[in-house]
Amino acid sequence: MQRQHSERIHNEALKHIVGGVNSPSRAYKAVGGGAPTVMERGQGGYFWDVDGNQYIDYLAAYGPIITGHAHPHITEAIKKAAETGVLYGTPTAHEVTFAKMLKEAMPGLDKVRFVNSGTEAVMTTIRVARAYTGRDKIIKFAGCYHGHSDLVLVAAGSGPATLGTPDSAGVPKSIAKEVITVPFNDIEPFREALDKWGSEIAAVLVEPIVGNFGIVEPKPGFLQEINELTHAAGALVIYDEVITGFRFMYGGAQDLLGIQPDLTAMGKIIGGGLPIGAYGGKAEIMEKVAPLGPAYQAGTMAGNPASILAGIACLEVLKQDGIYEYLDRLGSMLEEGILASAQKYSVPITINRLKGALTVYFTTEKVVNYEQAENTDGEMFARFFKLMLEQGINLAPSKYEAWFVTIAHSKEDIEATLHAVDNAFYALMNE
Ligand code: PMP
Repeated sequence: MQRQHSERIHNEALKHIVGGVNSPSRAYKAVGGGAPTVMERGQGGYFWDVDGNQYIDYLAAYGPIITGHAHPHITEAIKKAAETGVLYGTPTAHEVTFAKMLKEAMPGLDKVRFVNSGTEAVMTTIRVARAYTGRDKIIKFAGCYHGHSDLVLVAAGSGPATLGTPDSAGVPKSIAKEVITVPFNDIEPFREALDKWGSEIAAVLVEPIVGNFGIVEPKPGFLQEINELTHAAGALVIYDEVITGFRFMYGGAQDLLGIQPDLTAMGKIIGGGLPIGAYGGKAEIMEKVAPLGPAYQAGTMAGNPASILAGIACLEVLKQDGIYEYLDRLGSMLEEGILASAQKYSVPITINRLKGALTVYFTTEKVVNYEQAENTDGEMFARFFKLMLEQGINLAPSKYEAWFVTIAHSKEDIEATLHAVDNAFYALMNE
């Protein structure tokens, strides 16, 4: 496969853009380095790079592109926005339409606010929870990613019931002390943390179905216990549905699982590929936000007509009958085919899948928490990633990410992908 143009552009990018990328996960650092593939065009389930190579795309831009690239209905909406002005700085009727759509889809939302990214959405839910409870600390779960605001770039200390330390340079130690990180899917350390700091906890922040150390579902009862214990401590539960919102069904993971948080953060899919975030929850809590209440949050770009119209169009597509069943069918085909090839060549893998989202871990252990995901074979994943890329299959360059099937993928695409997986597994075990 020719990659000269990707390499040339990346070398040029390195001179002008930090690390040559605008988000670190785009670099191929975790898969042995090299120039990331520079894409030129996306259409449906496919990408074409600057060297003219075609790929089947399972990155889906880290999740938002569930309809496939340049979906005609969304493209139409974006064109309309471009023709009528993309940014007003005034209210629009579209925002109201979209807020109503989100509320209909997720019953836990009495009131919402639109922001510009998942990071902003999560960051603000924490501020609102603090304003509502008058407390400062939060509990989060190891390996869940919640954007790059200070509070959520904090790692666990040496044991489960210790205060956090900054996970990034530039995050003050004083802020890290407000964050407690405990393992996902294990209620005891969580209970311990609440026993110790319960009266200081403003909120517990969780991805209800994890997307950031692969797709990991909560054990039965885990989220229910979190709700009960958190509420008993007088704190709020925040669900980060930035990945899970509209991913597995029309609505949130909260509807799929039948359990509601107090506040929800959203992003990704709800912008139809344009920048967006949203947060919402019970009226009584949301009314703490300015201009009604004392918690400040604002945004020049917030609720811009382009993102809102693209978001409405995307949800209109997803609302059609059979969408999630289709994603499930293709996801299941992928899972079965990958497992069959793994068995054929004795490749040690485990797959976690929910509907059209799946993670292939290079381990034979079951993965239910971050530590287990960390212990999977990163070197083998890196070789697999490159072998797939060479055959025109674009995956996320990290062992922690999911493959996202889109509604633009066909059965033939899945078959072609499985053929590539079979070749890659053979090469992994024989070369
Ligand atoms: N929360 C979750 C669960 C995410 O996966 C991400 C992004 N990967 C974010 C928050 C941050 O969203 P954004 O990149 O739009 O700021």
